[in-house]
Amino acid sequence: MSIADRLMTSVVKQLTPYQSARRLFASTDSQGDWLNANESPFANDFSTDSRRFNRYPDCQPPAVVASYAAYTQLEQDQVLVSRGADEGIELLIRAFCQPGTDHILICPPTYGMYAISAQTFNVGVKQVPLKEDFQLDVDGIIEAEDTVKLVFICAPNNPTGTLPAKNDIVQVIEHYADKALVVIDEAYIEFSANDHHVELLNNYPNVVILRTLSKAFALAGLRCGFTLAQGDVIAALLKVIAPYPLAEPVAQIAAQALSQDGLGLCQQQVSFLQNQQTRLLSVLETIPNLSVVGAQNANFILIRCQHKDSLMAALVAQGILIRDQSKQYLLDDCLRISIGNEGQNSRLIQAITTFYQDRQELS
Ligand SMILES: *Cc1c(COP(=O)(O)O)cnc(C)c1O
Repeated sequence: MSIADRLMTSVVKQLTPYQSARRLFASTDSQGDWLNANESPFANDFSTDSRRFNRYPDCQPPAVVASYAAYTQLEQDQVLVSRGADEGIELLIRAFCQPGTDHILICPPTYGMYAISAQTFNVGVKQVPLKEDFQLDVDGIIEAEDTVKLVFICAPNNPTGTLPAKNDIVQVIEHYADKALVVIDEAYIEFSANDHHVELLNNYPNVVILRTLSKAFALAGLRCGFTLAQGDVIAALLKVIAPYPLAEPVAQIAAQALSQDGLGLCQQQVSFLQNQQTRLLSVLETIPNLSVVGAQNANFILIRCQHKDSLMAALVAQGILIRDQSKQYLLDDCLRISIGNEGQNSRLIQAITTFYQDRQELS
């Protein structure tokens, strides 16, 4: 037994590394069509000023916090910036869940990192699946209450693209008023801008909202996200965050992305992607071997298709990568397609259409 195997904690022994499609399939320098991780196809220009690189950065860079507070019309003490929304999830679990005793509650099919993060810290995961229409099972969520400290609601939900009804979310928040925090993950909210839940923050002290620059802001490589909550929740997270969670170049670029110009560019690119989504959807709906599942409130489309594995393999052979979601609850044979640029979407349509035509001729 290696030294690592002998010393590893029993919790860590049971973990498996996060399986991104990139880790599973790809070589590092491949020039493929990456439609698997809901990244933006745009790579925007930024500049950095190296004159501060010899100094440790601010824990909470004031320019970044101030611009995100302005963007969301919140006070600065209601905003925490972190290494992606994923770090926000982790900080919430570390600050509010007692390892070995407490639970988080998730509503699958949904984003995988809530459960992965909880498992890493030996925090239990209660699952209350979405209903067949991908809406919240409010009664189930309320029944599960014992030892639940965090309820994660993804809105719009990844990978279904659906929005949970606001009434249902409010019911959950009110039920858990002095028992648990309700964390609304709005990673895709710029694609559904009128459906945000910021106003709930000021009415209910147990609401937390997660945001990111990774999706609509086209900065997945930056690793920058936000947690929005009342000041005392943010203060608790600041107790467990690393002293320098954001590198100085990250802070500089994030501030540029949140400037007036940056916000304008983001909005323009969101409209472009929404048009591409409509175009992709109209073609996919004509292919008899597949059906569109869920809704399109984010930058992806979920499909259920025949011969799912062969289709994936045929796409990979042409350098097109999408994401298999078929292991998730309610999502048998489902694949998720991130909206790319015009060329990528055209190649995808062509590849799917050809795949089913070829199969038809064979049979
Ligand atoms: C992509 C994604 C995140 C992660 O955001 P990062 O800021 O890149 O860590 C969080 N939640 C959901 C639902 C996502 O899809």
